[in-house]
Amino acid sequence: MSEFGELKPSDKCGIVAIASDEPVAKEIYYGLRILQHRGQESGGIATFDGGETRSKRGMGLVHEIFRAEDLAHLKGNTGIGHVRYSTTGSSVIDNAQPIVASTAYGDIALGHNGDIVNAGLLREELSRKGWAFMTTSDSEVIVRLLANELSHTGDVRRALKEFTRRLVGAYSLAIMIDGVPYAVRDPLAIRPLCIGTKDGAYMAASESVVFDTLGYKFVRDLKPGEIVALRPDGFESFRLPHPTHTAHCMFEWVYFARPDSVLDGRLVYDARVKIGQQLAREYPVDADIVVPVPESGRAQAQGYSQVSGLPVVEGLIKNRYIERTFIMPEQADREVGVLLKLNPIKSAVKNKRVVLIDDSIVRGTTIKKIVKILREAGAAQVHLRIGCPPIKAPCYLGIDMKTRDQFIANNRTVDEVAKFVNADSLGYLSMTGLVRALSHPKEDICFGCLTSVYPVEVPGEKFRGLEKLERFGTPPKKAESGEKKVRARAA
Ligand code: SF4
Repeated sequence: MSEFGELKPSDKCGIVAIASDEPVAKEIYYGLRILQHRGQESGGIATFDGGETRSKRGMGLVHEIFRAEDLAHLKGNTGIGHVRYSTTGSSVIDNAQPIVASTAYGDIALGHNGDIVNAGLLREELSRKGWAFMTTSDSEVIVRLLANELSHTGDVRRALKEFTRRLVGAYSLAIMIDGVPYAVRDPLAIRPLCIGTKDGAYMAASESVVFDTLGYKFVRDLKPGEIVALRPDGFESFRLPHPTHTAHCMFEWVYFARPDSVLDGRLVYDARVKIGQQLAREYPVDADIVVPVPESGRAQAQGYSQVSGLPVVEGLIKNRYIERTFIMPEQADREVGVLLKLNPIKSAVKNKRVVLIDDSIVRGTTIKKIVKILREAGAAQVHLRIGCPPIKAPCYLGIDMKTRDQFIANNRTVDEVAKFVNADSLGYLSMTGLVRALSHPKEDICFGCLTSVYPVEVPGEKFRGLEKLERFGTPPKKAESGEKKVRARAA
């Protein structure tokens, strides 16, 4: 799937939570800019100034939303931030995050990455109890559920444990309750979330690249079902019941995350290079050059080149200054967007047999245009290699792929897809190849959109048979043994 216009799976939100000795607004701002690839629709920051929660949300890119005076207004040494691309709920300011709600136990601010499968049922249940909803987003359901639990227990920790038991689906959360920032990862660890530190500050962020850029030291990924309370000098951890296996989203490595992030122990760039190597072993072809679809096929093209011995040639040049085409709502606009964004180097591809590499195909309309661009530039042949098996099924766990009929590979053979996109040959990475490249046991990865078998129960879909959350056992009452209650200040 290239980023040039077709439906772009778009989970993809980014979150940040921080506790520091210093004001945090600028740090969150920069963290969100680093995570901008995870959501370009809206963004927001909430901080706690010692007395009240201050927040600002807006539509657009982070640097368009916040001016210097906004950051000066967002006082406080604790806070959370969020960038969003909607998966549930429409693209309006009301659905931007962090959502802030006032309760008798202080303000709750929430940023959510993922999708809650049972949000509809929970919403109905809470509505019957008298909770009013202001937005269509499933993230508001999380906030109301937490507020409801707080009103019953009066204890933040118990409320956090109890409310997460009710949630089914994918959720990495940045929450601030009465000024204390928490990071929460669902029991299957579907979306990424990790912790970093520098002197006088602890931060949780969707991807480790935030720490590299802001001078933090990576501490570790949150464990499945882990809740972490951040403090300037450490963090306190407690865990939800969790299954033996995780269900990390394979798409984070294949496409979503930045290549310079390390997710659950695996550098994304390395995984993509391995994918390219594997593709070259599975689908060798007599050709002259390897051309990546920029940027999504770059690392895979390196891997293909390493094994095949064919040189990588930048045969397609991207115009970096055209806005991201998936923001354009109409398909016609998106298709013009492909041509605005990509231009071939004619002399590089003319009369060449090209191996064209991309990470995945959703509808096929964009890659078809890219094949056409190469042919019109004089390429003798175009052999398409895709770094992921065919996507055939919806995602219910935070990626905006909701219906089967949108997928070109649904009910079509590989040859039929090749014909549709007008490629001389087409090779999709095998499931075995993908598992090998990700270096995680297949039981620990979600492949739902490839296999139609999901790690959580979704009405009408196959469930891969992991135990139900209720059966995972009772959560430990105290901080998990082996995890220091409060970490020492970073050296
Ligand atoms: S269904 Fe696909 S996109 Fe969704 S979480 Fe699973 S692997 Fe990721």
